Amino acid sequence: MSQNLSSQLEEYLPQQILKLVRDAGEKASELGQKVYLVGGAVRDLFLGRANFDFDLVVEGDAIRLAQELAKHSRAKLTVHPRFGTAKLSYSNFSLDLATARRETYSQPGALPTVQPGSLTDDLCRRDFSINAMAVCLAPQRFGELVDLYNGKDDLDNQLIRILHPNSFIDDATRILRGLRYEQRLGFRLEPKSAELLRRDAAMLDTISGDRIRHELELILKEDHPERVLRRADELGVMNKLHPSLKGNGWLSEKFDQARRLLKRTSPSPLYLCLLIYNLTNKENEQFLSRLNFPKRLALAMRHTLQLKTQLHSLANPQLKPSDIYRSLHGYTPHAIQANALASESPAVSRHLQLYLTKLRYVKPLLNGGDLQRMGFPSGPQLGKLLDALHEARLNGEVRTREEEEKLVVTWRQTS
Ligand code: ATP
Ligand code: MG
Repeated sequence: MSQNLSSQLEEYLPQQILKLVRDAGEKASELGQKVYLVGGAVRDLFLGRANFDFDLVVEGDAIRLAQELAKHSRAKLTVHPRFGTAKLSYSNFSLDLATARRETYSQPGALPTVQPGSLTDDLCRRDFSINAMAVCLAPQRFGELVDLYNGKDDLDNQLIRILHPNSFIDDATRILRGLRYEQRLGFRLEPKSAELLRRDAAMLDTISGDRIRHELELILKEDHPERVLRRADELGVMNKLHPSLKGNGWLSEKFDQARRLLKRTSPSPLYLCLLIYNLTNKENEQFLSRLNFPKRLALAMRHTLQLKTQLHSLANPQLKPSDIYRSLHGYTPHAIQANALASESPAVSRHLQLYLTKLRYVKPLLNGGDLQRMGFPSGPQLGKLLDALHEARLNGEVRTREEEEKLVVTWRQTS
């Protein structure tokens, strides 16, 4: 007798979502289809963890079912006929519907060939047993667990287990996914899966840069990405991203500091700048092109290493604010932040922080127009005057508009 999760569904799912999945089950029945809740939502239901991405698998036609469901709600419907998938977006959660599929891999790392299939086909293509459970939503079988790979036992024993020995070869992104789940949930790779992961780490070479970068980005969104990177290092995975990358104690300490510093914004770009901090320029370039980083991130990472070579000039405690401004102006803030965290010198870190929190926002109150109205002719001289005013303001020599006006007047008199 299979386990029934209807009481867990009722307890953990918000009312609105519960009603929606029941509706989905009923509508599917009327259409002669079957629908199941699958993947992360089932796993997290057992674990009592919040998850607002609901994946439904439909034995039948997911788009048709999604259209039916959309008729009676305010959800935004997006369909992808080529993939047989649809998304219903509500204000605070989303429901993904996919037609059950069978996948075959023509070669390692290639995207799979997809055909419509049964729920069983759909579950056997999944990454780990804990992600391969389904809950039936059909009215007569509502809440019934389908667990073909003993995912529930693995959840109880806190194990990450692949479904077959070639899993990492078929799709090496699963290597990075496995480490991510292991560290997120505080689980352990099941010993045989861990052995296969080590064996197949080199299969990451078969994965495109974009897909690897996507997995790395997912890792960096975790609460403690440093744990994943440490484990990746331990299992010989880190050096497949680049031979010189390390997931060590230094990185853990810096990631932790980065997180504290940026409470409200995403620390991901800063994590990346710290990740490459101990690479050479050449190694960094290899990493940037392997993972095909977009321009903005690549720039922040390049600037990080460029600035690192200039830090000695920022260690002098006698530097004036305008000197600091001149040295740092033009570097992206993430690169400056990464150096502030990574530098061994407290004076350097202080100067970099001063720039980030204050100096970069300092501007003179007078502008070119004001100076012209005061009788200064336009031309390159005017630009120089504004720079000098900026400098005086950075160094706290003028504080008000009147003081700025007085200063330029004295300059005129002495020139
Ligand atoms: P998360 O909480 O990280 O979003 P999730 O389980 O919802 O976890 P998704 O990346 O949203 O993960 O994917 C949904 C489901 O699709 C997974 O639970 C898994 O069953 C399956 N899946 C995703 N990526 C792969 C893959 N590379 N190989 C096999 N199955 C995968
Ligand atoms: Mg998900």
